[in-house]
Amino acid sequence: MRSVTILGATGSVGGSTLDLIERNPDRFRVEALTANCDVDRLAAAARRTQAKLAVVADETCLGALRDALAGTDIEVAAGAVAVADAAARPADLTMAAIVGCAGLPPVMEAVRRGGAIALANKEALVSAGALMTDAVRRHGATLLPVDSEHNAIFQCLDGNALDSVRRIVLTASGGPFRDWSLDRMKPVTPEQAVKHPNWSMGAKISVDSATMMNKGLELVEAHHLFPVGSDRIEIIVHPQSVIHSMVDYVDGSVLAQLGTPDMRTPIAYALAWPERMEAPCTPLDFAALGRLDFETPDLQRFPALRVAREALDGGAARPAILNAANEVAVRAFLDHRIGFLDIVAVVVETLGRYDPADPATLEDVFAIDREARILAEEGLKTHWL
Ligand code: NAD
Ligand code: MG
Repeated sequence: MRSVTILGATGSVGGSTLDLIERNPDRFRVEALTANCDVDRLAAAARRTQAKLAVVADETCLGALRDALAGTDIEVAAGAVAVADAAARPADLTMAAIVGCAGLPPVMEAVRRGGAIALANKEALVSAGALMTDAVRRHGATLLPVDSEHNAIFQCLDGNALDSVRRIVLTASGGPFRDWSLDRMKPVTPEQAVKHPNWSMGAKISVDSATMMNKGLELVEAHHLFPVGSDRIEIIVHPQSVIHSMVDYVDGSVLAQLGTPDMRTPIAYALAWPERMEAPCTPLDFAALGRLDFETPDLQRFPALRVAREALDGGAARPAILNAANEVAVRAFLDHRIGFLDIVAVVVETLGRYDPADPATLEDVFAIDREARILAEEGLKTHWL
């Protein structure tokens, strides 16, 4: 019986994790579930799974959570510190599925415990970078990548030494605007941007996929998880999202992991690791698929890819600024405060206005994240619709 804590239990990844856990009640039990303020979903999941603890990050939602769980013996708590405390409680596996850098403190609590962490929350790793991977090593923790590309690479590496790798090939769907001109992209609405052709995901990552900043963040994520050198991580557009990524070995062998685009496959991999478990995913129908296509990404129309690579090569503070500015800009776009193409413009401006020293501690990362958000908020004003 494996105990699991789900950070971000009410989201897209959190929901898929619960689905798998609830299909296998003899394999898993739930320790803690957390959410921002989605009390109804959180309380319902806590009741169904008989979780020991349910936490909302937003303190104003505590009363509602208490009411929703009245008559049960499920503990309740609220606040960002309570979410981190939940991650610090012993559990065999922590699913890190909070969106954004807000997930960094609880992920680090799970790292300090030395446990196994299924990492979906890429923004936490992008911001903290080597400070997180160093802590993982120091505390004997295990990072199991859940992002489908990184999970694919993890599977294709299968414990092989990185010096036998010629390059890592990250596949990208290209998002909903893959073949659109910049003129056509300019007026797109949040409603259009969140409609991903292959995957059903939370709003923030869907917008990131549309700008392709998601692939930029994933480049940084791949660099920290599989340090082969950033020049050996290549991005290729593959519209069908069937090959989730590839590893090209020095002997010319290329290993790929394929599957129907369904996050329950990489989540099941992380839940059962080092074994495998059944996931209710549709098998690939190769004949129906017919073909797999590949294209070089267009850095003119998708400048986020170039900006993210420059940030990665520019030192440890740059990805944290990139991520913070992007979170602010995506929020502003979703709130109809700026246009679609303004998202990356705000990120570029923020990077241009802020050049702090490399972070030496997590406190430095939080300080950089805070300052970059303030600058990005200021920068938004020049793009106000
Ligand atoms: P989502 O928006 O659907 O869910 C986010 C979860 O985090 C919710 O439970 C929400 O309540 C919680 N949350 C939000 N803000 C919070 C805060 N300030 N403090 C505490 N909790 C907070 O997001 P998602 O699509 O499930 O994505 C989660 C993470 O997984 C992201 O980092 C995303 O990039 C990554 N990811 C998602 C997918 C996918 O298919 N959805 C695929 C790969 C990677
Ligand atoms: Mg991904």
